[in-house]
Amino acid sequence: MTTTSATGLATLTVEGLTVHYGGVCAVRDLSFSVPGGEAIGVIGANGAGKTSTLKAVMGLVPRTVGALRFGDVDLSVVSARTMVRHGIGYVPEGRHVFAGLPVEKNLLLGAYARKWNAATRQTLTEVYDLFPVLGEMRGRLAGALSGGQQQMLAIGRALMSRPRLLLLDEPSMGLSPKLVEDILAVLLRLRTEGLSLLLVEQNAKLTFEATSSCLVVENGEVAMTGTSAQLRHDPRVRQIYLGL
Ligand code: ATP
Repeated sequence: MTTTSATGLATLTVEGLTVHYGGVCAVRDLSFSVPGGEAIGVIGANGAGKTSTLKAVMGLVPRTVGALRFGDVDLSVVSARTMVRHGIGYVPEGRHVFAGLPVEKNLLLGAYARKWNAATRQTLTEVYDLFPVLGEMRGRLAGALSGGQQQMLAIGRALMSRPRLLLLDEPSMGLSPKLVEDILAVLLRLRTEGLSLLLVEQNAKLTFEATSSCLVVENGEVAMTGTSAQLRHDPRVRQIYLGL
């Protein structure tokens, strides 16, 4: 099994992932990998199993899995709380910022697994560089931010742990087209910085622009895979997921 990509960065390998909620099978025998430094997308309709896939990788829902590795680390035995120590960042669906805390405090909470030192301060500076609006609003309560700003805060908070792989669950949800463009620009910038991305989205257009390859998930199973360039021209994908 390859544990690193050609770039020498750790690869996420998922083999035979299955999630059941009682009698409901939300994810069935899903296999994919995120080669180090690459951005991989998972698109699918409402209820296709996208969120369950990310939660299962994070260990947030009970799952069975044949193999779940990040580089040389066996993630199948790593608790959700300690994923961050292995370089995995997670931006949950619906943002879940701490509404009653200031923006900066939210960001600092993202660094909970790190010591507070010059390196952490440097990361905070980098997050403010990526999202200048967060710097301008650092003292404001997170609950007072707009939806787009809260999404940026959720991404910034995950970046505070200096992840090598970032899992993003529908970052475009509820955002205006302009803000979706802003999120795309951020994802492309993160890619150029060597961060690996696993992007789960209903917005196929955004996903094809942000990623190099994608899985199309239907009823918890892989229906199609391909490069994002191939899939965006596939007649079925165009009809169902791009509405063309
Ligand atoms: P969305 O885009 O709406 O977030 P999704 O593709 O992320 O959808 P999941 O949220 O993973 O899909 O849901 C997959 C299936 O599992 C759906 O049929 C859903 O109803 C079911 N499901 C999700 N969470 C639970 C739960 N906690 N208990 C029971 N069934 C659940």
